[in-house]
Amino acid sequence: MSHDLTSSSPAVLRMSTLFVRTLREDPVDAEVASHKLLVRAGYIRRAAPGIYTWLPLGLRVLAKVEAVVREEMQAAGAQEVHFPALLPREPYEATGRWTEYGPGLFRLKDRKEADYLLAPTHEEMFTLLVKDLYSSYKDLPLTLFQIQTKYRDEARPRAGLIRGREFIMKDAYSFDVDDAGLDASYAAQRAAYQRIFERLGLEYVIVAATSGAMGGSRSEEFLTPTPIGEDTFVRSAGGYAANVEAVVTPVPDAVPYDDAPPAHVEDTPDTPTIESLVAVANERFPRPDRAWTAADTLKNVVLAATHPDGRREVLVVGLPGDREVDLKRLGASLEPAEVEPAGDGDFAAHPELVKGYIGPGALGPQGAQVTVGAGPDASTVSAVRYLLDPRVVEGTRWITGANQPGRHVFDLVAGRDFAADGTIEAAEVRAGDEAPDGSGPLELARGIEIGHIFQLGRKYAQALGLTVLDQNGKQVVVTMGSYGVGVTRVMASLAEANHDEKGLAWPAHVAPAHVHVVATGKSQDVFDAADTIASGLAARGIEVLYDDRPKVSPGVKFADAELIGVPVVVVVGRGLADGVVDVRGRAGDDAEQVPVADVVERVAERVAALL
Ligand code: ATP
Ligand code: MG
Repeated sequence: MSHDLTSSSPAVLRMSTLFVRTLREDPVDAEVASHKLLVRAGYIRRAAPGIYTWLPLGLRVLAKVEAVVREEMQAAGAQEVHFPALLPREPYEATGRWTEYGPGLFRLKDRKEADYLLAPTHEEMFTLLVKDLYSSYKDLPLTLFQIQTKYRDEARPRAGLIRGREFIMKDAYSFDVDDAGLDASYAAQRAAYQRIFERLGLEYVIVAATSGAMGGSRSEEFLTPTPIGEDTFVRSAGGYAANVEAVVTPVPDAVPYDDAPPAHVEDTPDTPTIESLVAVANERFPRPDRAWTAADTLKNVVLAATHPDGRREVLVVGLPGDREVDLKRLGASLEPAEVEPAGDGDFAAHPELVKGYIGPGALGPQGAQVTVGAGPDASTVSAVRYLLDPRVVEGTRWITGANQPGRHVFDLVAGRDFAADGTIEAAEVRAGDEAPDGSGPLELARGIEIGHIFQLGRKYAQALGLTVLDQNGKQVVVTMGSYGVGVTRVMASLAEANHDEKGLAWPAHVAPAHVHVVATGKSQDVFDAADTIASGLAARGIEVLYDDRPKVSPGVKFADAELIGVPVVVVVGRGLADGVVDVRGRAGDDAEQVPVADVVERVAERVAALL
């Protein structure tokens, strides 16, 4: 829903009647500052895990963030519509997403037992709406958007508004006849996103992204850098920038292996870890030219993927032993399946996988039969799926598990001695790795995804039959783009970027008010003067939060002002006897004493300078 409440709100918000209770204690479930402070300062209240109720102060900030997003969408030529959140199954069935979304989708039934869902995003509905009303190339290009509530049953709702199960997204969709049109629509949205985040004063980087469950080709994310971010991105000095999930490992050339010795199995007792294996290899089987390192070992990591239909698959990723599997990169590669490290039950179900000593001999390619056990008790089972890091190219030579406790195989040559089901991007990306485009070593940082733009192409239009007649009277499938901003997540990111240990410190253009007038003491003169100042400011179009509570101590009022985070604070109190009031910034900055007669003018100047 859109929350344009600013215009209808009273110009002076009086703390004596405002529906707000600030809290001195952090909520127990909160880990990050934005979550703690938005709850403590009375902007939001938790209703259920990842689901929040909006209080008056929160709605005011949200409305301002939405307004910036809306204005820039309109300036980019997008038109606003509004879909329901509660939708029928059929369109999502047609695109496969009813199933593909897996446990992330809130599914429900109506009284007639018909299936419904709470939409996680609206590609299907926009496609069908345009199909309903448009039929010619002359109707295009078209970009539509909405600012609307989305539902995702996130596995780990976290950090308050940053990862909610109900959240507000601006989603826009473009419709074009051809690829050049899509490029232009995408460029217009990309530029609008840059303006949105610039206006909001939220630092951002644009990184290459994977297109995930949406399908499609070109895709970029807008991330705001912060150590509390769940996304990791890389940058090179030469201008490469990508989410780690999208980093494609440069594939080395194949290595000649004509004179490689045959593979040989050796006793390597008590070497279940890479570290212990390297130590024993150097002690008992030293190399003449140099020492063995972890990079000479092929580590085989057992994982479990849960597919959207609920099927659990055990699979193995083989990678150089000096690298870890990055579960987010692996997850992105295996989407829509969800992955986790294999558990005891998975190992029990696969006796051919000898923990600590797993090697290609017990693995894929799938369908191959592999041996379990040795001697007369040996039996065979079908191999699990085996996927290799792209660095494991033909001719590379490895020390790896021999599928028997305490034994490893040396000089095992990829392509000669073993094969797999394919390669996979699953290994961690490390600082110092070369950028895929050769533009220099990578550095890593963390960020929050605040926006995502995709070239969807024809996938949705094809699945749902959105075609138009082109110039030659031929039916052509429309090509689409999809563009999302996490509006509530952006608000939390702004809180995250603008706070100190005492509370929030909003930029003026999104703050719930421009000025916080605090009346201190008991004297009626103070309250009269503060009333006059507050209404004088409001008459100038300035939004005022006025602490007119008669029996609250100055200390509590100041602490609340610091917690709530309005950018300019006016204190009417003791100085009044000398005809002055105190004016300062939220952080106590630029404090000045201003004669009562000048205060409205002076504060108006200060606010204007901030907006
Ligand atoms: P994430 O990787 O963080 O789960 P996503 O890639 O699934 O996000 P999109 O489908 O690209 O998200 O949605 C568009 C935007 O909506 C995101 O860029 C993000 O800003 C916002 N968003 C997505 N999921 C959530 C959520 N659970 N809570 C709040 N905002 C969200
Ligand atoms: Mg995304």
